[in-house]
Amino acid sequence: MGLIVQKFGGTSVADLDRIRNVAKRVAKTFDQGNDVVVILSAMAGVTDDLIEMANKVTSSPDKRELDVLLATGEQTTAALLSMTLQSMNYPAQSMLGYQAEVVTDHTFGNARILEIGASRIKDLIKKHNIIVIAGFQGCDTQGNITTLGRGGSDTSAVAVAAAIQADICEIYTDVDGIYTADPNICKKARKIKEISYDEMLNMASLGAKVLQIRSVGFAKKYNIPLHVRSSFSEEEGTMVVNEDSGMEQLVVSGVTHNKDEARITLKKVPDQPGVAAKIFTPISEADILVDMIIQNTRAGGETDLTFTVPKSDFESALAIEKTVAEEIGAEDVFGDRNIAKVSVIGVGMKNHSGVASIMFHTLAKENINIIMISTSEIRISCIIEEKYTELAVQVLHTAFGLDEE
Ligand code: ADP
Ligand code: ASP
Ligand code: MG
Repeated sequence: MGLIVQKFGGTSVADLDRIRNVAKRVAKTFDQGNDVVVILSAMAGVTDDLIEMANKVTSSPDKRELDVLLATGEQTTAALLSMTLQSMNYPAQSMLGYQAEVVTDHTFGNARILEIGASRIKDLIKKHNIIVIAGFQGCDTQGNITTLGRGGSDTSAVAVAAAIQADICEIYTDVDGIYTADPNICKKARKIKEISYDEMLNMASLGAKVLQIRSVGFAKKYNIPLHVRSSFSEEEGTMVVNEDSGMEQLVVSGVTHNKDEARITLKKVPDQPGVAAKIFTPISEADILVDMIIQNTRAGGETDLTFTVPKSDFESALAIEKTVAEEIGAEDVFGDRNIAKVSVIGVGMKNHSGVASIMFHTLAKENINIIMISTSEIRISCIIEEKYTELAVQVLHTAFGLDEE
């Protein structure tokens, strides 16, 4: 007997048959004597389709209205699962974000959860209901519908689990756990039995989209054990917990990739105090997140500056920098959407030299050019041409001895 949160991603609720499959799994957990709160994503592809539709109406949809639109994807699946459970004679009830009191800030499209008033959910649990909550959505303090950023229903699930003090939060998805690299592009990737919150935070921040990064932050803060597993099999998945057993010993424990970034370069920028602030202030004012920044010092009092932003913000960032370039007297601004970031990660890297040189040699052997590099104590990331992503992940996975035997 326990209190279990189960989250099902887009592929797990992609059609009515799969929703039926989800209903059976939820019912089984309920029959075993557990209280169950379900969090759902929209059907696979629906969020993308809604964004595309909005972009056909106008090239820059109003962010508030876009969230009203996007929230419908999760509203649909929550109602359908609830009906399916009821048709199987289970006492189910759906709740939208605002009904579940998911209070967020005002950042449409990427809102942060401020708090979840758990009382309504708890009341319904006491009445022995199965609660089905639409993920990815919340409501700001003025009553506006907000969404939590792509992949945000993971965060809805963990935040609800924290608010109601669930025993565990199960994340059901289309892979059977967390792997040393994305198993869909690296066939030799190995399933990890147990991983720490910190290591998973690193992987998620560097592109392992199996969990949205904020969900891992919540899980760590409130010490909620996560079980990432497949909705298509009974097999045990990966536990994300406080301390893991053995991964610290590995120099490199995973390889990740991220195709969601684009690069912007300002050429021949005056090399003077205050210039970097002029370049990045309007970007942050537009709520655009900058990832890597590289500045080369050149002779003649000028320098080139390159940085990366999410692909979805590329056009706006480029337009902003065109104006900035004129103001500060830079020679040119250009960008490239066809890039990807590959990273090798491992806390063991702190005490080992030579990881960078293995990485660079491995990429060089395949003739993959490195466009940008950034490092921290526990990871090295390279920006490369997007078309080499899969190859790069595979050869790095082999080079660092991670391949399945
Ligand atoms: P859902 O719709 O269930 O939320 P997502 O597509 O958001 O599913 O996340 C699951 C996907 O994450 C997998 O299909 C896989 O391609 C990808 N992924 C990336 N890196 C990893 C990794 N290291 N381990 C497992 N899956 C990964
Ligand atoms: N439906 C949303 C998305 O596609 C949220 C999620 O699936 O987690 O990003
Ligand atoms: Mg997801």
